Amino acid sequence: MTFHSMWAELLPVGRSSATGGYRRFAWTGADAECRAWFREQAEKRGLTYEVDRNGNQWAWLGDPAAGNAVVTGSHLDSVPDGGAFDGPLGVVSAFAALDELRARTAEFTRPVGIVNFGDEEGARFGLACVGSRLTAGLLTAEQARRLTDADGTTLPQAMAAAGYDPDAIGPDPERLARIGAFVELHVEQGRALDLTGDPVGVASAIWPHGRWRFDFRGEANHAGTTRLTDRRDPMLPYAETVLAARREAERAGAVATFGKVSVAPNGVNAVPRLVRGWLDSRAPEQDTLDTVVTGIEKAARAHADAHGVALEVVRESFTPVVEFDHALRDRLARILGKDTGLKVPVLGTGAGHDAGILAGRVPTAMLFVRNPTGVSHSPAEHATEDDCVAGVLALADVLEGLACR
Ligand SMILES: [Zn+2]
Repeated sequence: MTFHSMWAELLPVGRSSATGGYRRFAWTGADAECRAWFREQAEKRGLTYEVDRNGNQWAWLGDPAAGNAVVTGSHLDSVPDGGAFDGPLGVVSAFAALDELRARTAEFTRPVGIVNFGDEEGARFGLACVGSRLTAGLLTAEQARRLTDADGTTLPQAMAAAGYDPDAIGPDPERLARIGAFVELHVEQGRALDLTGDPVGVASAIWPHGRWRFDFRGEANHAGTTRLTDRRDPMLPYAETVLAARREAERAGAVATFGKVSVAPNGVNAVPRLVRGWLDSRAPEQDTLDTVVTGIEKAARAHADAHGVALEVVRESFTPVVEFDHALRDRLARILGKDTGLKVPVLGTGAGHDAGILAGRVPTAMLFVRNPTGVSHSPAEHATEDDCVAGVLALADVLEGLACR
């Protein structure tokens, strides 16, 4: 199968020899290599290659202007020290599925597109899914132009340096209007399929999720001479809040994480003045998420008060639940179950995707490929070769069912 050779070609691109993880950040050299690879795959197959105004890459079989196209694909960028599968599995499987359909001499009745969405992970500019958000009109060109990386380089500067025209970015309703269905294949970022024993599943929904900033403000003071009773130490209520988040999430069947913290003045021998922690929380339903975050905030306030510390909580971002198109989801499940008669698992996910961005604009579905450890956004992220092949065949079946006679 062509999957293996394509996979091997991409494998070394942007890989850090120190960590074994990938650093394929938007508009960098590693990203350019991935994009060159995509273009080469498109041209090698005689597909029509194009880059849209937002830098997303497309490869077309048939004329997309005919409309009602079936599009599949994902992204090729990565988080810092990410794994090999998150993103590339969907793009490589898309080309391999097309090869499989050609080998089956399938007769296409709809245009088929393969897409690589730019800057999905947001590793460089801090906002995920920039390419698909711009296209869907969920991020304005003005907002995108203000995005800046850690070195002070703006998104327009980065795009221009990579050879793209930043003046062209913006919503692309005509392009979206050509798409009749979008299917993204992705490595699962959890262990649901491992637990059910299935290589491939269908997504039901993306959980509502958000980020909140907790600022605990106390009083900086000497760590040696300030009596414990005289301190207003913001680290203490912060620590209690981290534990409360874990308890609230456990109780509700949600997830809650304080994964980033900044401390001022950040001295070993100083009681801190400010502890700023970022909460990421996700849950299957909106009500559950509200309950969890309210519970965490309540605990944070009580502990802050007890220590004479001021607390401010700011919601920095929020994405409501994304329900994938029910008709398309059920059709995928039927297509995949037809030979075996087995029920294909339908599962929710706590991770965001380009498919979640597009879901508000076009009928959208996702396929997940089993990840035996569930580990993701890490070099340990993995799917077996057999499961990758099962994913390609499932995607080929889906494309055949949707776009072929
Ligand atoms: Zn991804």
